[in-house]
Amino acid sequence: MASTQKSLVESVPKGLLIGGTWRASSDGATLAVEDPSSGTTLAQVADATVADGTAALDAAVAAQAGWAATPPRDRGEILRAAFERISERAEDFATLMTLEMGKTLAESRGEVTYGAEFFRWFSEEAVRIHGRWSTAPNGATRLLTMKKPVGPTLMITPWNFPLAMGTRKIGPAIAAGCTMVVKPASQTPLTMLALAELLQECGLPAGVLNVITTSRTGDVMEPIIKDPRLRKLTFTGSTGVGRRLVEQSAEQLLRVSMELGGNAPFIVFDDADLDRAVDGAMLAKMRNIGEACTAANRFFVQEGVADEFGARFAKRMAALTMGKGTKKGVDVGPLIDAKARDGVAALVEDAREQGGTVLTGGSAVKGRGYFFEPTVITDVPASARVMSEEIFGPVAPISTFRTEAEAIERANNTEYGLASYVFTADLARVIRVSEALEYGMIGINQGIISNPAAPFGGVKASGFGREGGFEGIEEYLETTYVGIAP
Ligand code: NAP
Repeated sequence: MASTQKSLVESVPKGLLIGGTWRASSDGATLAVEDPSSGTTLAQVADATVADGTAALDAAVAAQAGWAATPPRDRGEILRAAFERISERAEDFATLMTLEMGKTLAESRGEVTYGAEFFRWFSEEAVRIHGRWSTAPNGATRLLTMKKPVGPTLMITPWNFPLAMGTRKIGPAIAAGCTMVVKPASQTPLTMLALAELLQECGLPAGVLNVITTSRTGDVMEPIIKDPRLRKLTFTGSTGVGRRLVEQSAEQLLRVSMELGGNAPFIVFDDADLDRAVDGAMLAKMRNIGEACTAANRFFVQEGVADEFGARFAKRMAALTMGKGTKKGVDVGPLIDAKARDGVAALVEDAREQGGTVLTGGSAVKGRGYFFEPTVITDVPASARVMSEEIFGPVAPISTFRTEAEAIERANNTEYGLASYVFTADLARVIRVSEALEYGMIGINQGIISNPAAPFGGVKASGFGREGGFEGIEEYLETTYVGIAP
């Protein structure tokens, strides 16, 4: 690690942030954060105990009333200041993310812009929280609705977007007047710790944001989820863990938002602009090394353009350079760990055995780090695991279709329903297909769909709730109705 990178990692707080104070774990334990490009340890951070988790919730509960009473403009100004400061320190945040998560610096810079934007968006939303006044239909009473913050919220975030998955929860919670306990993924806590310190510098009062890092994840999270003082759980991560957390939250009927896994179809019709479709495929597949819930997972290409699309896409994938994300000229970083790399390899092997033809890539890279070659596989049968499971790596399985109805049927044939992509020049088809796809998000002729001003979220096993857009703040608000007799 270069000395500037080393001093950047050293400058990040490594403790638990509880009630405005950074402290060690109550039993002194730490957990190691690894650089996935080399497998070496970057830093040790505090490893919270169950008692630390409870203390973090205590702090959030204690700060709730004061925070809810803080003028919306003041809450918004803190977010705005944080947006400015993240932007000023963009290079530090990008470097930290690349070091602990592996993606290239260019991609991390993109995430800093995207992640910071949630703070700007919700700084503007903080002052636009509205109720309603109306007359009941029979004229007998007046109906007043008012919005109140939900209250102390637990936020659990994944490793793939260490900044943005946090800001799109923290931003609306701060704007709405909720306090919070944040638990970042054990593999990428440094970005969140740096963000928490930055929010303190921007004047966020003690106890509003508490951060705990832990390797004893289930043991520390469950008592918080079951504590009646907690009023909301928001989770981004795998569908399996999400299901377990919904079960745990059922005990006290907690308000819950779930941003879970995906299995995005990428549909290319014969009439599509193929240049755009190939550009879109590169973005939808390779953003974040394929480790995105929105990543194109299954490519359905209409027969007339399938060969050309496959050949052009494979050529672009083969031209990508793999390496450590901080190095110049690198397009593709490593996967997060050995388990992820081996899981991707097993999916490719299964697709091969079931008759798929590997046009490019197809193997894990030997040596240090957890690299997997950018891969395109054609003639993949529907029975291949890669068509039903979330790949979370740089692998694109392609299969062909004949009719629009067949494309829709196959695209919807999954338990997931997060992102989907459609490439066509036919406006009537855009309307038909958009109405028929069972997905929370649909990208038309574009390979990136995430936008802080849009409601991000899924249906079916991809979860419920929306982050970003006008909808994002509603997740952190309750509606109270007051009936007033005139
Ligand atoms: P994960 O294993 O579900 O972990 C996500 C978070 O949950 C981590 O902070 C993890 O902590 C925590 N966790 C694990 N077990 C837990 C338990 N028993 N109780 C409470 N918390 C627990 O998912 P991941 O591998 O990090 O992330 C990849 C998944 O996230 C993919 O499926 C992806 O599609 C999904 N994702 C969805 C969205 C979306 O918006 N829909 C966005 C990004 C990612 P530890 O790190 O300590 O284990």
